[in-house]
Amino acid sequence: MIYDIGIIGGGASGLTAALTAARQDASVFILEKEKAAGKKLLATGNGRCNFSNLTIRRENIGEMVRETGAYRTGSSETAMITVLSAFDSSDAAAMMEALGLSFHARGDYLYPRSDQAAAVADALRWAVAEHKKADVFCHETAEKVSREKGLFQVTAAGGRRFSCRQLILACGSPAGLKKEKMTNGMDLAGMLGLKTRPLYPALCPLKCSEAFLSRLAGVRTAAAVSLYIDDHFAAADRGEVQLTAYGLSGIPVFQVSRYASLALAEGRPVTAHLDLVPEMGQKDLKAHLAEVIGRHPGHSMPMILGGILNRKLADVITDLAAISKEQKAGSLDPEGLGRVVKIMKKMRFHVTGTGDLTQAQVCTGGVLLDEIDPQDMSVRRIPGLYVTGEMLDVDGICGGFNLQWAWATGSLAGRAAGRRSHDQS
Ligand SMILES: Cc1cc2nc3c(=O)[nH]c(=O)nc-3n(C[C@H](O)[C@H](O)[C@H](O)COP(=O)(O)OP(=O)(O)OC[C@H]3O[C@@H](n4cnc5c(N)ncnc54)[C@H](O)[C@@H]3O)c2cc1C
Repeated sequence: MIYDIGIIGGGASGLTAALTAARQDASVFILEKEKAAGKKLLATGNGRCNFSNLTIRRENIGEMVRETGAYRTGSSETAMITVLSAFDSSDAAAMMEALGLSFHARGDYLYPRSDQAAAVADALRWAVAEHKKADVFCHETAEKVSREKGLFQVTAAGGRRFSCRQLILACGSPAGLKKEKMTNGMDLAGMLGLKTRPLYPALCPLKCSEAFLSRLAGVRTAAAVSLYIDDHFAAADRGEVQLTAYGLSGIPVFQVSRYASLALAEGRPVTAHLDLVPEMGQKDLKAHLAEVIGRHPGHSMPMILGGILNRKLADVITDLAAISKEQKAGSLDPEGLGRVVKIMKKMRFHVTGTGDLTQAQVCTGGVLLDEIDPQDMSVRRIPGLYVTGEMLDVDGICGGFNLQWAWATGSLAGRAAGRRSHDQS
């Protein structure tokens, strides 16, 4: 059978594309390598699926992207903004409602009302299954793809062949998967001659070389993280940072990690600075500590610092400031206190690497946006071919931005492919 539309990848963007196209009466197949479609969705938002973000509003997308760095591309920023303006958070919310799902917001982050990612995956799968002309083939890994005589031919790992008039590449990225589960959609893109940028882990932990980290494993602390590349400020975020034996983790670290990944790949030096008391300026912190010491001159420095910081951090900072743990804080000279404050406001880490793809939530890199018409996600040079979701050279920060990109691109591609098959029939 020759299908109107074939989709490789039954994830967030592939299911959205299938649903949008099937609603226009196109015959559609999805090839999904896992035993069920939408598996990655189950892990999103810690199982709750943070599916969009209220700050993604079509009237200010350009401003939002430029001011917050919520999205990044190594290719065309204009194309990225065009896509996001065509399908914003209100469209994502409407899509959930159309699937029968209520939603709610935590701050700007949108979740299904049930707080269950499984509800989103199930609703999408069922909605696709309701269409008689949509077939989902699971346990089928596309290994080869070609275009012959106006048709796309897809060969799966077991040798089964699928033919379609239009093809949507929706393979996502290897981020967050176990090593044995990783396939690389970039190989398929390469077979069709698409230009790509290498994939690197993003939204991932940072590995650092400081020996004292082994003493801080397990500590969680409120902090502001600033990332420096070649000693120049690159990005910052604030929230709960987790210290591990090998480095830094937690949402604010994830948010800046893409810049570290890209810089390290180019062999550039990267450092991360933690401001452990971001709510106070240096002067105020010094005055605060001086006041506490004044009230408790017999306490040791770790005890004084333990009043604001995790005790393990208090110990390490005392050592880094070259102060004896036995010394009474009341006998500390102003230089000693100055050293402590400086470290608390700017604890420096040399970043030697990032977590690997298994520890990342997304990848930075992918098919260049210059290849794509952002009105409908079609590949400019190859009629009938589309690329969606994380396969594209766009990555978002935590907060629902990546799924939003998946819904937006899936919906645009599905709509265009559905319309084209309708016109062709
Ligand atoms: C742990 C974790 C938590 C996350 N949490 C969030 C969150 O809360 N909010 C958010 O916005 N984003 C989140 N993300 C990111 C988000 O899940 C992805 O950006 C999004 O799923 C990408 O959609 P996609 O359609 O491009 O790819 P996917 O959803 O990954 O779908 C791709 C599908 O293609 C299949 N496939 C791949 N290659 C082949 C092949 N050769 N043949 C057949 N099938 C193939 C895969 O099995 C997969 O089902 C999270 C990611 C991870 C790993």
